[in-house]
Amino acid sequence: MPDLKSEIKKEVSRRKTFAIISHPDAGKTTLTEKLLLYGGAIRLAGSVKARKANKYAVSDWMEIEKQRGISVTSSVMQFEYNDYCINILDTPGHQDFSEDTYRTLVAADSAVMLIDGAKGVEAQTIKLFHVCKMRGIPIFTFVNKMDRASKDPFELMEEIEQVLGIRSYPMNWPIGTEGDFKGIYNRNLSQIELFGGGAHGQTQVSSTVGKVDDTIFTDLLGSHYHDKLCEDIELLDMAGEEFDREKIRCGELTPMFFGSAMTNFGVQPFLEAFLELAPSPGIKETSEGEIDPENNKFSGFIFKIQANMNPTHRDRLAFLRVCSGKFTKGMTVRHVNAGKDVRLSQPQQFMAQERTIVEEAYPGDIIGLFDPGIFKLGDTLYEGNNNVRFESIPIFPAEFFARVSPADTMKRKQFIKGIEQLSEEGAIQVFKQIDIGIEALIIGVVGALQFEVLEYRLKNEYGVSLRIQNLPFRHARWIENEGLDPRKLNLPSTSIIVQDKEERNSILFENEWSIRMAEERNKDLKLIDIATQDF
Ligand code: GDP
Repeated sequence: MPDLKSEIKKEVSRRKTFAIISHPDAGKTTLTEKLLLYGGAIRLAGSVKARKANKYAVSDWMEIEKQRGISVTSSVMQFEYNDYCINILDTPGHQDFSEDTYRTLVAADSAVMLIDGAKGVEAQTIKLFHVCKMRGIPIFTFVNKMDRASKDPFELMEEIEQVLGIRSYPMNWPIGTEGDFKGIYNRNLSQIELFGGGAHGQTQVSSTVGKVDDTIFTDLLGSHYHDKLCEDIELLDMAGEEFDREKIRCGELTPMFFGSAMTNFGVQPFLEAFLELAPSPGIKETSEGEIDPENNKFSGFIFKIQANMNPTHRDRLAFLRVCSGKFTKGMTVRHVNAGKDVRLSQPQQFMAQERTIVEEAYPGDIIGLFDPGIFKLGDTLYEGNNNVRFESIPIFPAEFFARVSPADTMKRKQFIKGIEQLSEEGAIQVFKQIDIGIEALIIGVVGALQFEVLEYRLKNEYGVSLRIQNLPFRHARWIENEGLDPRKLNLPSTSIIVQDKEERNSILFENEWSIRMAEERNKDLKLIDIATQDF
């Protein structure tokens, strides 16, 4: 038996755990499907798509997801490629569930930012990008849909820099961007890969390759395209950023790839370069100092809780990211936050559409733990008697608020229980308005559709009908100043003071303008938009 230390070391070094961030419709489902195809995790591309379209698909866990045909919650897909073990953290397609995506990013070691070549950087991409930036993880850019007319690639680079504040290094370069796509030039290998259209992307395409100055390409591309390409490359080499691994590693420079997920063009070179550049699971900060993934002791944290796998039970699935050591089925670990030992007997893993029982897992892997209601977001599990705690999971700012109460006051107890559970899962944020003696709680959500989920789940799981009164607020800001009495602040009349469930003072504002007004009127006031949740 090889010793545990070298086994863990080997497994850590071949693991890559990442999430794809994009605006809806940029092609995330399509790209995910193609990546899985290369890994042989699914035989024919289309299975992931089917999951999205087919309302009876296995991973459409929540009834509301089935009804709406949208992916509400996120799951994880694992596959092997060239001896790498890759975990893709899937995220909800619908922007109303972006908080779930934000949280999933906490479990990723890198991110792939997928951009529609014709649309450039879109709203949802900007928000998700900022979460990655905050975490300082490497970000890889894939510019998709190059088979159609797109923006000028130099313009896209400029846009990424202006809007997101990150410089890019094109790893390859498109030839023909006005709906006349001919292929890409691979800067690293100095070779051209011709676009052949592919068999509608159903299978892997082979590419034609050759040096950039090979006259065969003047013949193939025509001198117009070949000359333009040579000019572009010269300009990039002269005026562009230098390739710098260190800048990529700390998220200051994004390697940029052009391709077309649908026709499966440029996906494999992207995957290979990505695997080479993306980091393996690294050191994590804890309350007791750093934990090395190669540490013999198993540790991990819960970054997501998903309820209602089976509507007749209240069972939940807690998603744990392994951070160090080796996980084995049935092992007993310390549930640090509850101060108890728990046996992890039904761990589950996910691949495309099936859930299977995992026997073992290593740093970077995600496992689903059967949760009878004991786990909370941010909880640490650890092998051994120690009080290690990973950094807490951030609470992302809600953008919609409503006063919520049970339609039938007799149901208040069930109502509170349901609200507590959903808040533990991170599906809603609970606030109380201070000092006005109003019974109704204020619920904040990141996307308006989450109110529907709230209403649906309280009705279905707790038998409580809700009264929901929408409020005009769009921003929550936490007050950072210790000991400051918020009632003494001079605030715009349209804002209100609330407390979150940890009784931290916050203010709800209707618009950015009133936030600025509050800051101007109260010079010492320090407002923050992302708080950390300490459970
Ligand atoms: P998601 O919402 O980001 O998951 O996007 P999808 O993967 O569902 O793609 C949205 C639409 O864009 C679908 O109609 C896809 O067929 C289409 N699409 C995805 N990739 C490409 C591509 O490379 N080229 C073209 N022309 N269309 C694409």
